[in-house]
Amino acid sequence: MSAIDDLPPLREVIATHGLSARKALGQNFLLDLNLTAKIARQAGELSGSDVLEIGPGPGGLTRGLLSEGARKVLAIEKDARCLPALAEIGDRYPGRLQVIEGDALDIDPLAHLTPPIRVAANLPYNVGTELLVRWLTPPTWPPFWQSLTLMFQREVAERIVAQPGSKAYGRLAVLAQWRADARIVMSLPPGAFTPPPKVSSAVVHITALPKPRFEADASVLSRVVAAAFNQRRKMLRAALKGTATDIEDRLRAAGIKPTDRAEQVPLEGFCALAREVAKG
Ligand code: SAM
Repeated sequence: MSAIDDLPPLREVIATHGLSARKALGQNFLLDLNLTAKIARQAGELSGSDVLEIGPGPGGLTRGLLSEGARKVLAIEKDARCLPALAEIGDRYPGRLQVIEGDALDIDPLAHLTPPIRVAANLPYNVGTELLVRWLTPPTWPPFWQSLTLMFQREVAERIVAQPGSKAYGRLAVLAQWRADARIVMSLPPGAFTPPPKVSSAVVHITALPKPRFEADASVLSRVVAAAFNQRRKMLRAALKGTATDIEDRLRAAGIKPTDRAEQVPLEGFCALAREVAKG
């Protein structure tokens, strides 16, 4: 018996269902149920919330989320081999687990969820950043989610919480801190996973603010920030050349020196620049 429920230990689940890890699917499993319950607790008060989980795999975090009281978990998993193991979890928590087989990048989960909604995931590394950017850049705010509790490679986690002037500061920091609060809440060594990845990981907890910190259009801001940091060593007047006409004037109007580099511009500056660029 495992510590958090009366389902079999995850090593046994993996052996029973033949879930050998596949690199192409970013499969590094968490098998310690006390650890998955701890991650679930970082997601906040779950009892009144639906939780969207991407990539449940054999279900370690899913079990953590359900044992910690999630009202419902909607789990999207690409690997059909995991479905029987997840069905056993569904039987243990009747009516509280819905599994959709498919690619999280193609599935709109909203029809299956009732607010308040939290997102929690040990993300497949190959799709993690893309999902995060989508969740942070919907056209309107607040988003469908209250919080995101996500495992990333440590280096990516540091980019999300980075401050201007640091090497890690870039597109992820600007987008995450524009309309949300982001902090690293747990660090995990490679040995916490089976098989162990090459690098350390960290859990980031992101809470949606009721309103963006500064006004800007999400798609314009995304475009400006992507261009600025794509050539981060260049001066902004060069890096942003193709973004809008008269870019030097717009930079100055936003209070940014055209000779500055992206790394030096705070969030407020990028939002002001996005407003200038949106003027057409
Ligand atoms: N949550 C499990 C855990 O913590 O042990 C598994 C985490 S593993 C890092 C990533 C999981 O995401 C795998 O189960 C993998 O099959 C799944 N996955 C990979 N790409 C996916 C995609 N595009 N959509 C949905 N699931 C995906």
